Amino acid sequence: MAKIKVKTPLVELDGDEMTRIIWKEIKDRFIHPYLDIELDYYDLGVEYRDKTEDKVTVDSANAILKYGVGVKCATITPNQDRVVEYKLKKEWKSPNGTIRSILDGTVFRKPIIVNNIPSGVRSWQKPIVVGRHAFGDLYKDTELYIPEAGKVEIVFTTKDGKEKERVTINDFDGPGVVMGQFNLDKSIYSFAEACFNYAISEKINVWFATKDTISKKYHARFRAIFDEVSTKRAAELKAAGIEYWYYLIDDAVAQIVKNPGGMLWALMNYDGDVMSDMVASGFGSLGLMTSVLVSPDGKFEYEAAHGTVTRHYRQYQKGETTSTNSVASIFAWTGALAKRGELDGTPDVVAFAQKLEKAVIDTIQAGEMTKDLVLLTTTKGPKQLDTFQFMEAIQKRL
Ligand code: NAP
Ligand code: MG
Repeated sequence: MAKIKVKTPLVELDGDEMTRIIWKEIKDRFIHPYLDIELDYYDLGVEYRDKTEDKVTVDSANAILKYGVGVKCATITPNQDRVVEYKLKKEWKSPNGTIRSILDGTVFRKPIIVNNIPSGVRSWQKPIVVGRHAFGDLYKDTELYIPEAGKVEIVFTTKDGKEKERVTINDFDGPGVVMGQFNLDKSIYSFAEACFNYAISEKINVWFATKDTISKKYHARFRAIFDEVSTKRAAELKAAGIEYWYYLIDDAVAQIVKNPGGMLWALMNYDGDVMSDMVASGFGSLGLMTSVLVSPDGKFEYEAAHGTVTRHYRQYQKGETTSTNSVASIFAWTGALAKRGELDGTPDVVAFAQKLEKAVIDTIQAGEMTKDLVLLTTTKGPKQLDTFQFMEAIQKRL
């Protein structure tokens, strides 16, 4: 066949360990044979990040800003063990965190639904998309260990040096801990807009949840901004046939497990971190969870929600058979290609992405799958395939 032309370069961010192995396979089997595509390549493998003092991560984010769409492989976020293992100069920051800050993006995580892989939560029939505010709060906090008795205060000083407010956090009569968090109106508005953009384009209801009964200024500010944006966009919500619902976070958690799904659940940064993992494991395998980072001005970065699957990589290094599920990584590519095609106005690129997704789903529904899914499927006598056999089965169908 003649290769399908992708008009604009796609930004490619390579990664680490087992997902790096899978990444190359995906390109060799599903991308290069079919597409005439220019990949603007950045090696985010931990060794090259170390070599470039992490400059490559910043460059890759800027490339996404330039071209609009990127696809990212999972990467190691180094801890002390990794510093020793890879002889790194330091514990480089999470690449995802760096890219999120540069794009000012919101992360949406969506499970891939396959009809012979039932969700662990009986009521969940449709995807629950988790929208996590990816800026501020706990993730940009300032913390102190207070070693002895003393007073800790919050002081607000205006730009011209005037002390405007001073509030006591606590009068410590012994050791303890203290934390300062912040967020910005600008970022919360971006988050709300990104959520309503996503929900309107997918035609799903928006749930938003905080603890504004307790946090009457901080969480209440988030609620007020969501209320304001939903009111402003009421006509668009109505036209899409969707609604906006506000819940207290504990109420939302209780409701979500009884609900059939099919909504965007918008959450503050920490809640989104925690709940996205809960929703992911509820839907089954981490190998079926995709993730997209959307900036308020419409730049997109697609990836699998899971990590580099280190345990499997150790087996692979020893020459043992692995059963790593490549579905979420493949869907990162199809998501990016479909978006690229949509933005470029090239429907044949979108159609190719859809065909590849269908080949993946059909393969699993025909009973051919990796071990993580064999443990979950309702198909009797499924055929368990290793990492590479599974991709071969998809390739055959494609
Ligand atoms: P992980 O890579 O997500 O893997 C945790 C476990 O989940 C695996 O051992 C495996 O379970 C299962 N799993 C995850 N993805 C799978 C797949 N595609 N197919 C089959 N099973 C899968 O998390 P981790 O082991 O905690 O982290 C490893 C590295 O990834 C860390 O260095 C971390 O920094 C990094 N990480 C990166 C990202 C990212 O780039 N977005 C996200 C999270 C973590 P079994 O062992 O039971 O088979
Ligand atoms: Mg998490």
